[in-house]
Amino acid sequence: MAAGERVVVVGAGVAGLTSAVVLAKAGASVHVIAEQVPGVTSLAAGAMWGPYLVEPKDKVDEWGQRSLEIFRKLAEDPTTGVRLTSGIEASRTAEAPPDWATTLPGFRPCEPTELPAGFSTGYRFTVPLIDMPTYLGYLLRRLDAAGGTVERRRLASLADVGPATMIVNCTGLGAKDLLPDPGLRPIRGQHVVVTNPGLTEFFSEDTGLSPDLLCFYPHGDTVVLGGTAIDGEGDLVPDGKAAAGILARCAEVEPRLAEARVLEHRIGVRPTRSAVRVEAEHWEDGTVVVHNYGHGGAGVTLSWGCAEETRALLSPI
Ligand SMILES: Cc1cc2nc3c(=O)[nH]c(=O)nc-3n(C[C@H](O)[C@H](O)[C@H](O)COP(=O)(O)OP(=O)(O)OC[C@H]3O[C@@H](n4cnc5c(N)ncnc54)[C@H](O)[C@@H]3O)c2cc1C
Repeated sequence: MAAGERVVVVGAGVAGLTSAVVLAKAGASVHVIAEQVPGVTSLAAGAMWGPYLVEPKDKVDEWGQRSLEIFRKLAEDPTTGVRLTSGIEASRTAEAPPDWATTLPGFRPCEPTELPAGFSTGYRFTVPLIDMPTYLGYLLRRLDAAGGTVERRRLASLADVGPATMIVNCTGLGAKDLLPDPGLRPIRGQHVVVTNPGLTEFFSEDTGLSPDLLCFYPHGDTVVLGGTAIDGEGDLVPDGKAAAGILARCAEVEPRLAEARVLEHRIGVRPTRSAVRVEAEHWEDGTVVVHNYGHGGAGVTLSWGCAEETRALLSPI
C-alpha cells in the first residue's frame, strides 16, 4: 500500500470504522461506503471487552489482547466512550473462571457475600466497557480528522465500489448475500437501555449458550441491560416479551434497576461464522480485497487486532 493510495472500506460498523482509522493513520486515502452509518449491530453491543460466540481461539486471543491494549489507552480520554470498569461475572453453578479474565487487573474470586442470591461462584475483574454510540461517533470523528470520507450507499456487489485497487470488506452479516458467504448465520441480540439509578459496576452471568442472557453495563447516565442470543434469527424489530424478561432478570440481581426509566431498545444481529474471516483475496484485474467480518459476539473485543491484520494484509512489507 503506497502512501496516499485509495482504499475503499465497505461497512461502517466497528470493524469497518476501526479498519478505516488504522488505514488512514498508515497514510492511505480512505473512502468508506456503507448502508448504515454507523452499523446497527455495532450500535447495539453492550459492550464489554471479552470473547463470546467467536472462533478460532488462538487468533481470537491475539486480536483480543491487541485490542485490549488500545482500549486501555482510549479509556484515558472520556470522550471516547471507553471506561475501565470493575464488576463481577458470576454463575449459579460452580464454574472455573473464564480464561480470558484471569489476567485482567483486579482479578480474584468473589467472597460469597459479594454474590447475588442464587449465585454460587463469581469472579471480580476490571475490564473496558464501551458505550457504543459514543465510541462509534469517536471513530467517525477520528476518521474525518485523518482525511477519510464516508458515503451512504447499499452495494449489490463488491465490484460496485467504483474505482479502487484495494477494497476492505467489513460488511458483517451483510457478507452473507453480498459475496455470498453461506457460512455466516445471524444470532439476534437485544438490549434495553435505562436511566442509571447509581450503578458504577458491571454484572454478567455466565449463562453458557442460553438464549436468555443477564448482564448490565453502566455507562455514566445510562445502563445497558442484556440480553438475548437467538440463533438463526435476523430481524431487527424489538421484542416486547424479550425486553420484559431482560428487565425482570436484571432487577432480580440489582433491585435499583426496577425503578429505572426505559430509554431505548437496541437490537443487533451477531455475524457468526465457524471462524472470523480476516483474509486477502486477489482478483484477476489486480484488485486486492481483504475480508474482515464474521466476528460473532466479539466484534468490539477483536476490532483493533483485526484492523491491524487487515492493514498488514494490504501492505505485506
Ligand atoms: C446485543 C449484542 C450485544 C453484543 N455485545 C458485545 C460485547 O459486549 N462485546 C463485543 O465485543 N461484541 C459484542 N457484540 C458483537 C458485536 O456487536 C459485533 O460482533 C460487531 O458489531 C460486528 O461489527 P461489524 O462492523 O462486523 O458489523 P456491523 O456493525 O453489522 O456493520 C456492518 C456494516 O456493513 C454495512 N453493509 C452490510 N452490507 C452492506 C451492503 N450490501 N452494502 C453497503 N453496506 C453494507 C452495514 O450497513 C454496516 O455499516 C454484541 C452484539 C449484539 C447484537
